[in-house]
Amino acid sequence: MTFRTDIEIARAAQKQPIQKIGARLGIPAEDLIPYGHDKAKVSQTFIRGLEGRPEGKLILVTAINPTPAGEGKTTTTVGLGDGLNRIGKRAVICIREASLGPNFGMKGGAAGGGLSQVVPMEDMNLHFTGDFHAITSAHNLLSAMIDNHIYWGNDLGLDARRITWRRVMDMNDRALRDIVVNLGGVANGFPRETGFDITVASEIMAILCLSEDLADLEWRLGNIVVGYRRDRSPVFCRDLKADGAMAVLLKDAMQPNLVQTIENNPAFVHGGPFANIAHGCNSVIATRTALRLADYVVTEAGFGADLGAEKFFDIKCRKAGLKPSAAVVVATIRALKMNGGVAKADLGQEDVAAVKRGCPNLGRHIANVKGFGVPVVVAINHFAGDTEAEIAAVRAYVAAQGAEAILCRHWAEGSAGIEDLAHRVVQLAETPSMFAPLYPDDMPLFEKMETVARRIYHAHEVIADHVIRDQLRAWEAAGYGTLPVCIAKTQYSFTTDPAILGAPEGHAVPVREVRLSAGAGFVVAICGEIRTMPGLPRTPAAEVIRLNDQGLIEGLF
Ligand code: ADP
Ligand code: MG
Repeated sequence: MTFRTDIEIARAAQKQPIQKIGARLGIPAEDLIPYGHDKAKVSQTFIRGLEGRPEGKLILVTAINPTPAGEGKTTTTVGLGDGLNRIGKRAVICIREASLGPNFGMKGGAAGGGLSQVVPMEDMNLHFTGDFHAITSAHNLLSAMIDNHIYWGNDLGLDARRITWRRVMDMNDRALRDIVVNLGGVANGFPRETGFDITVASEIMAILCLSEDLADLEWRLGNIVVGYRRDRSPVFCRDLKADGAMAVLLKDAMQPNLVQTIENNPAFVHGGPFANIAHGCNSVIATRTALRLADYVVTEAGFGADLGAEKFFDIKCRKAGLKPSAAVVVATIRALKMNGGVAKADLGQEDVAAVKRGCPNLGRHIANVKGFGVPVVVAINHFAGDTEAEIAAVRAYVAAQGAEAILCRHWAEGSAGIEDLAHRVVQLAETPSMFAPLYPDDMPLFEKMETVARRIYHAHEVIADHVIRDQLRAWEAAGYGTLPVCIAKTQYSFTTDPAILGAPEGHAVPVREVRLSAGAGFVVAICGEIRTMPGLPRTPAAEVIRLNDQGLIEGLF
């Protein structure tokens, strides 16, 4: 077999008309709003009509801490969805939409890989159905209304130095991280410092993903805190009367997008919040719709299980009342070797000892997920160079942890390569879910952070100075104390230092800053350097992205 790139495989896919995919889920053609032949939104009316229907089983795909070697969570999510369909189950995949900007930097696409992909991958990685553009517009409408309010006299008394609402765009552009706006004299307003974040970091992205319906969306938009007065009292989006118009801009974006896998199985691709300053999974509305249409819904959470799965459980599932039935922890031999201290350049050589040294990282994630009451299975996402001895070492380690590791070859073989995992997942999901979030709603905010740090990261303490603790107490007094916490830290390590791999113990987690996402409904704890506007690398991927002679896109991967 000659090697084909993801985009070549995706392009060769024999797609079915999207109405046919919808029909398999019982969605009538008139309730599909087509965006071309291979993408459609599902109408709000249809979704409302599903209320009260029994829900299928929710399967989470998560992973060990990411390494530059790549783990393949999306690839495995898509593969498992195809695998469940292959063994005769009615399964739907739910994943996030891709951010356009990072494709032009150095990140690969977000549609899976090899024979386990969602198509059309070019659209998915670019403009898709315009959801992110709508979010960008809604976000910037509020930004414009803030400066306009101040310009016309500032009746609300916003302190221009304490405006927390910034601007967003879907592009990696470090030049816009910190800027001064309203320059140019009296006619242009009052100069102040602000900046741009990337669209996926917008609170509106998180709001859209956590809203149950349009009414809930508008209510949450109104709850956004845009800044503070001189007396530190908050000013809300609702005070600026922006919420109604923002909901109008988001009306279509709230409808989940239906596409298909290379094997013609249904996939909802909807929403895409950051997994650090937000919760990192697809929309509640897509997940809930899928659960009402299928027996199994396979979904992915961003980064490793310490960030992605924890937030999926403690934010998304808690808030939406979802009860996951099983979780798959994806590991690769390559990434385990890196956790065992091998450099990326040396991953090609067999090194059983390094695999064994890296396994405790996997073991920690297994135990953590079990701690939520969710049964776990490990998927070894097979790469061409993996050896028998290395695979045997992982199997033995996982067995000793009271779980099972299953070798999966979906990237190379499609659903035929992942049947064993599909059967095992079905079996695990048979037992009634014992799912429970990690901490109760009424625990003080700082204690919630400590609970996550101790139980999930195995840290010894959380460090925060009195300014931060006072801020948390002030939010508690203002009624935000029951919100879950969203910890933003490096995805590479259980600590806040990306260089410390494996399964470290007893470290300190310093909280540098806390932010209130009152509309989304969580309190963000920023630990370490977290960028909300990425930059482009020295040689951006954009330099090789082009249209070929047939007008097809080249260079996306
Ligand atoms: P994640 O969701 O964990 O970020 P993805 O599933 O998007 O990872 O995969 C990242 C990249 O790795 C993709 O380009 C994909 O094609 C590649 N990849 C995934 N699994 C394999 C595999 N088994 N062999 C080779 N490449 C793979
Ligand atoms: Mg992914």
